[in-house]
Amino acid sequence: MRKNYLSMIVTLLLLAGVACDRNEEPRLAFARMVPTLSPNDTVLHLGIESNTDWTLVSDESWCSPSLTVGYECMEVQVAIAANDGQDERSATLTLSSSDGGLVQTMQIVQQRLTPDSTTHYRLPVVFHVLYNKEGNKKQNVIEGHLATLIEGVNDVYARCGAYLGVEFVMAAEDPDGNLLAEPGVDRHRINLTSINSSAFMGYGREPKKYCEYMWDPNRYVNIFVYTFEDKGILGISHFPYVVKPHSLEGLTELEYDADWSELPWPQCVSINNEYIYSHEEYYTMTDVVNTLAHELGHFLGLRHAFSEDPETYDRDICLDSDFCTDTPTYNKVAYDKFMQGCMTSGGSVDDNEKQLLVMRENCETGEEFRSTNIMDYAYTEANRFTPQQAARIRYVLEHSPYIPGPKMRLPEQKPTTKAARTNTYKLVTFE
Ligand SMILES: [Zn+2]
Repeated sequence: MRKNYLSMIVTLLLLAGVACDRNEEPRLAFARMVPTLSPNDTVLHLGIESNTDWTLVSDESWCSPSLTVGYECMEVQVAIAANDGQDERSATLTLSSSDGGLVQTMQIVQQRLTPDSTTHYRLPVVFHVLYNKEGNKKQNVIEGHLATLIEGVNDVYARCGAYLGVEFVMAAEDPDGNLLAEPGVDRHRINLTSINSSAFMGYGREPKKYCEYMWDPNRYVNIFVYTFEDKGILGISHFPYVVKPHSLEGLTELEYDADWSELPWPQCVSINNEYIYSHEEYYTMTDVVNTLAHELGHFLGLRHAFSEDPETYDRDICLDSDFCTDTPTYNKVAYDKFMQGCMTSGGSVDDNEKQLLVMRENCETGEEFRSTNIMDYAYTEANRFTPQQAARIRYVLEHSPYIPGPKMRLPEQKPTTKAARTNTYKLVTFE
């Protein structure tokens, strides 16, 4: 038996020698086909059979050979990034002899991930900074500041008391796959000194006007930073959608998963650059981070924790309007009156009054409670999500179109352009 093995090895070596002999006609080939990769594969072993010098290049950054030049027969490792996008993807590896006379290509296919309750979402973020004066640091935000804000939001979300499984990351690449010199930031000079934020979000006469700045919302969370015409608004966000047969109370249901280019307005968050930095004692860095955390909460499907009529936005009511029964509700108009009564004419309050103002009265039960919810504002600790809020965010991450990350959808539910005509998009925003 042993003799038989030896003869097999000798035969294999002879075959290999034939395949890689430099004296023969130039020969260059991939040694074997590569099966479809799974979403979490991290490395691919590629065999190259050759008797000449060669180069190996990939057309996608997620599929990156460790060697790009070599000679004769070699094994090459190819680093594969986990596929946390929404679709199966493919890359082409091109193997060429150094004189260019021989060229072989191989398509590498990687399956898409189907999420479950343990999936960790890393959502690429792009801040589109729309400025009028390049030298104005409020408009043309200082490099590094927006990344600091995102770190702050991740910290708030990680310590919010409920498991969300979501992390925002500054986008590394633009939609064409070019590495961004400043990750997660896209700057544009505009001719306007301020923009009406409602019109920007789609309420204006030209709703598609600002869509040109949006990057594919299935790959990026789009956050626009500009000077709001209405100086009193800190930020405003679109609410997500779900696609039939999936549904979630309070979210607009679309008939089809339509291609994002058909969207009637930029699906995004807008932040007023007036509040992009801290401002003396009135507005701290924590406040700046909390505003972004709050707007992203809306973007991921959360309504305000206080009472708010879903249609008219009337707040002088008592209604558990956020579809989460574990968030106590209160009358915002009554609270605002109380808050104004505590303020001096200069608009400030002392430390004792702050302790009073962080308390709310549950309008359904009359009980007092401390405001800790990220979806509340005014005097609040703004550092908590409840389990039901976390469950809503998870559902949106797993099902909503126009939000990055892997989705639970049937194989036949692929985005389609014709579907937009059937969809009824409803403009729902929250400040
Ligand atoms: Zn809000």
